[in-house]
Amino acid sequence: MQAVIYEKPGDLHVAEAPDPTPNAGEAVIKVGAVGICGSDLNIAAGLFPPTPFPIIPGHEFAGEVVAVAPGIDFIDEADRVAVDPSLFCGHCPWCRVGRGNLCDNWGAIGDTVNGAAAEYVAVPAVNCHRIPDSMSFAEAAVVEPLSCAVHAIKIAPPRVGESVLVVGGGTMGLLTGQLLARGGASVLALVERKTERLPIGTQVGFDPTYADVPSALEDRPQGYDLVVDATGVPAAIEAAFGAVAKGGRFLQLGVAPPDAGVPISPYRIYYEEITVLGSMAVLDSYAPALQLIADGTVNVEPLLTHNLPLQSYPDAFEALRRGDGLKIQLTPGVAA
Ligand SMILES: [Zn+2]
Ligand SMILES: [Zn+2]
Repeated sequence: MQAVIYEKPGDLHVAEAPDPTPNAGEAVIKVGAVGICGSDLNIAAGLFPPTPFPIIPGHEFAGEVVAVAPGIDFIDEADRVAVDPSLFCGHCPWCRVGRGNLCDNWGAIGDTVNGAAAEYVAVPAVNCHRIPDSMSFAEAAVVEPLSCAVHAIKIAPPRVGESVLVVGGGTMGLLTGQLLARGGASVLALVERKTERLPIGTQVGFDPTYADVPSALEDRPQGYDLVVDATGVPAAIEAAFGAVAKGGRFLQLGVAPPDAGVPISPYRIYYEEITVLGSMAVLDSYAPALQLIADGTVNVEPLLTHNLPLQSYPDAFEALRRGDGLKIQLTPGVAA
């Protein structure tokens, strides 16, 4: 089969790879759509410590089941599925208390084992979620990023009447915003420096929108009760933290480089009783995210800007790096 291979940090190409076969407990999926995101940039650059090389990336995906290991009776060949990439060991202290996303042996399909930027991928059958016929593979491949947003909402549940600022209007910010919009915020503001994205922010429920944090603070000098960083960019995080109101909460959702530091004031955390929260990936949030898309509660349609053949992965990757469009997806099951 054709697959994208990250050979070593900074070196990726499309090449021939062996077709996967299902090991015990596994299903093989013919990939219908696979998204790429900021984590892939970090992984490819060697900035995500759990990733081994070489690896086939791709953790946001959906497709059709083409083979299942013997003894699996809950999914079948020809089922259309979206796949939770989470791989939790089940036996470490964190898994034992229901916090598998903090697993000491944490893994994810496409992050620590071969993923879906390929024609086929083998996955644990229990990670497969059947999708309704009405849901396209492209929509289903957005379940994974939405499931990260659903987890984030559990970490920082919206409070009725509070003011909310999301910094970063990429896919994660726009998905998280759509969930926050249903939580009774009095103000749901968006900061995104790529101003061509702001109308999409408005379309999915943000009002007002700004090109930078100082403008957002001009309108609301007292700050925002909940501020979400969805950029992972240290300078943006520093600015975002500066926009938290007294008694407010700050949620780190964007993935920063592991060695990056940001100066924040412990005095402010103390004197203004600011709560700092973090949200990491997916935890029991995949099925609810699938439901939110299936029911049309979350609209992913405006986010689906690129749909490219697998062979175009290097170009797609450069488009992602430039910040072109929003959700960039590849369609490995479709001939180039
Ligand atoms: Zn992702
Ligand atoms: Zn574990």
